[in-house]
Amino acid sequence: MAFDNCAGVGAGWPGDPATADTPVAVDAARVAPLAAGAGSLRELDARISVCRACPRLVEWRERAAATKRRAFADEPYWGRPVPGFGDAQPRVLVLGLAPGAHGSNRTGRNFTGDRSGEWLFAALHRCGLASQPNAVAADDGLTLRGTRIIAAVRCAPPENKPTPVERDACRPWLIRDLALAWPTTRAVVVLGGFAWAALWPALRALGVAVPRPVPGFGHGVEVPLAGGRVVLGCYHPSQQNTFTGRLTPAMLDDIFGRAAASAASPAPSSTMPSA
Ligand code: SF4
Repeated sequence: MAFDNCAGVGAGWPGDPATADTPVAVDAARVAPLAAGAGSLRELDARISVCRACPRLVEWRERAAATKRRAFADEPYWGRPVPGFGDAQPRVLVLGLAPGAHGSNRTGRNFTGDRSGEWLFAALHRCGLASQPNAVAADDGLTLRGTRIIAAVRCAPPENKPTPVERDACRPWLIRDLALAWPTTRAVVVLGGFAWAALWPALRALGVAVPRPVPGFGHGVEVPLAGGRVVLGCYHPSQQNTFTGRLTPAMLDDIFGRAAASAASPAPSSTMPSA
């Protein structure tokens, strides 16, 4: 490939949705209008993938791409925001926290190339939502069935902890992602408490009726929404959870089995949100 530290637009990274004409959000004020103006998930993914609105995260993601982890010293890194991945008309949305510095930030695809992804894609495959159980690179042939994976924050943050300002700056991308996917979505699987907290204000911004108070996050918590949709809480498949046995394959299978069952249900009855 014709890049090393970060994937340049048009340089040939597999699946790169951006082109030289893709508009760039150079600060937080420009994220909302660019998100709202994206007419399709493909266009939204392109705009996300070139965003530079958060100075600390831009510096961090590009530094990680330049310094690399020793195991990947000979590999090119994506080093850009990680857009959504999966079906263009999803019935199941999977909402994560943010890219890992040497996982998605390296491969350019959500949950691809790290241990969390090994657990997640294995579970999606067992439940019929992924074509294969492994995800190692953007060109590994993996496809998702009726499923799209997105994140509350699209750039790798130091210590996996975005600041509240960064979370809020990235929210318009999430709102637009939800708006474009909502007509077909039946189930939203939320991985971890950070993503759980990020989802509800975004749904409210879309005009989706959200329970008050919002139920607290927990594994297996299920929140029904209008139109027959459902939100499911799931522990994040981080090593902290999987190594300790807090999250097991059976627990993931339970959640994604329920999501897959919802996906097979009749189409939601509510209309598309306005945002
Ligand atoms: S975290 Fe979101 S808003 Fe901030 S630079 Fe990355 S994509 Fe843009």
